[in-house]
Parts: sequence; C-alpha cells; structure tokens
Amino acid sequence: MIPFEYSAATDLESAVHAGRSSSTRFVAGGTTLIDLMKLGVERPTHVVDLNSLATRDASLAAVSDLPGGGLRLGALAHMSDVAWDPRVRDRYPVVSRSLLLAASGQVRNMATMAGNILQRTRCPYFRDTATPCNKREPGSGCSAIHGVNRGHAILGTSEHCIATHPSDFAVALTALDAVVHVRAMGGARTIPFGEFHVLPGTHPERETVLQPGDVITAIDLPAIAFARHSTYLKVRDRASFAFALASAAVALDVQAGTIRGARIALGGVGTKPWRSHEAERALIGRPADVATYRAAAAAALAGARPQTHNAFKVELAKRTLVRALTEVST
Ligand code: SF4
Repeated sequence: MIPFEYSAATDLESAVHAGRSSSTRFVAGGTTLIDLMKLGVERPTHVVDLNSLATRDASLAAVSDLPGGGLRLGALAHMSDVAWDPRVRDRYPVVSRSLLLAASGQVRNMATMAGNILQRTRCPYFRDTATPCNKREPGSGCSAIHGVNRGHAILGTSEHCIATHPSDFAVALTALDAVVHVRAMGGARTIPFGEFHVLPGTHPERETVLQPGDVITAIDLPAIAFARHSTYLKVRDRASFAFALASAAVALDVQAGTIRGARIALGGVGTKPWRSHEAERALIGRPADVATYRAAAAAALAGARPQTHNAFKVELAKRTLVRALTEVST
C-alpha cells in the first residue's frame, strides 16, 4: 500500500481548495478509486473524503424536484437510492434501468452519482502497470491497439487510445441532455452533459472538462415529457456484474404511429457516452416501425471503426438499438 494522507471534507470550499493539488483525489463510494490505488494505477498523496458533506447539506445525497418536472440528483446520492426513487422510475425509466443493470447490489449501495460518471475505463491494460498505456502514463503507447481489444471502442477512438467508457448511467444522462453542477474556486458553474466527457484524441489521460479542485455537487435531469417512454438495454457477456458490450438508451415520442421526438445514446461502443443525433434525425417524422429503427441504427454506427477483435460490436450495437426502440414503442 502506498502511504497517503486522509482527511474528511468539512465544507465544499475546503474540499475545492484541497482538490487543487494534482496529487489529491476525492473519494465518496470508493468503488473505483480504492481498486485503482490497490493496483498502483492511482497514487494520490492526499485523499479527501466527501461523504461528510452530506451530513451538513442533505441535498447533496438526495433526489429533489425541479420546477417544471425535472429532477436534481445530489452528487453523493447512491446508485441504489436513485434507481428505486419512485419519481426516477416514473419520469425517467431509462435512468433507473441504467443504474439497476450496472455493477452489483453491494456496489450500487456504495457508489455515488458523481463517482459513477467519473469512473475510469475497464481496459485491462490501463489497470496493469506492467504494460504501456497512454491513459495511465501519457506517451508510453497503447497496448490495446495491437493487443486484445474485443471489449474496446468502435466510435470516437484515436490512434492513442481505444478504451470504452464504462458507465451505463452516463449513457442515459447523455440521451437526456442532463446538466452537471460543479463547485469550483471561482464559484459555481454548470456543464451540459454532452460536453462533460472528452474524446481521447492525443491526450487520453484527460477524460472530462473538470479542472483540479472542481467538485461535482449535482446532476439535473431536464423535464422531458416523453422520457416516461424510455428504456436502457444492455448486452453483456454474463447476466450481472459485467460491463456492456453494447447498450442503448432510448426515449421516444410516438403520436399516431409517427415519431415526433427521439433521444438516442449508445454505451459499450464509444470512448465516451455516445449520443447519436444521426439516429435521432433518422427517426423523427418517420413511422414507428422496424424499418425506421434499422435505418436509425445504420446511421448511428455509420462512423464505426472496429479494431482487430471487436468488429462484432457494429452489428451487436445495431441490433441492441433496434430492440430497445421496439421495446419502448410497444
Ligand atoms: Fe491505455 Fe487507452 Fe490503450 Fe487501454 S486503450 S491501453 S486505456 S491507451
């Protein structure tokens, strides 16, 4: 074990201040950070525990109503609490399902909203310090591109990294145009969810637009009436406690057999949670039938660039999306 300093945050301001050091890490559920510290992938000198903040401000761990019908998810709310909240299940089934299909019951009882969207990739080379990895050690190379890459991304890749983003919940948030609230040194700010994660490009070590010291305080789900007609479908190697090979978050507004509104995002295939505006355009104004869904799936995967071992993901993702759309419209 690597020696490190541990402290519990007493207020948001002191947490922001402590987090300005590049060797400080925040911890809440600990379901990613502690694993990575044991593996030697993360080596912080200071770990700041944010859990105590919720005892001072309960909204940080709560689900709250927003004017107009949206919901605010506190950054420290646990996955299981949000998944089973009646308002989330009723207004945003895609969010509830994305949370319940992730991890295990034990992990869902510990892991938090903010931690979920900040979780690191499950690329095995990233977690193996004996192998080169540009994300873990910038400039060292990517072991996956010429290695075993069955689980890796086919959308948004670069010649420096092809790692898949692991979160299911983030895929649902992408589809819903969620908004992330952040407390920073200069005050508070918001980040549209579609801009929160960044593509690997030449700097795969950088995964979000967060700056040192930024503390996520909440995630807003905007009011979208047809989000009641939404779902999250996840395909994986085993029935539980596995990451997606392909997944789809979909919401449809169908009136008199015609699609009036659509939200589409894919998981398990992108280097970030993958919104498909192309698929949405292929759906809106068209009949709600399988032919339309197949055209949308083809549009969503048109830019796919498979690696040596994961070409199967192109067809798998298409079929996953078609099935999710069929389920939500019947
Ligand atoms: Fe590292 Fe990304 Fe390559 Fe995996 S795919 S080895 S995370 S650079």
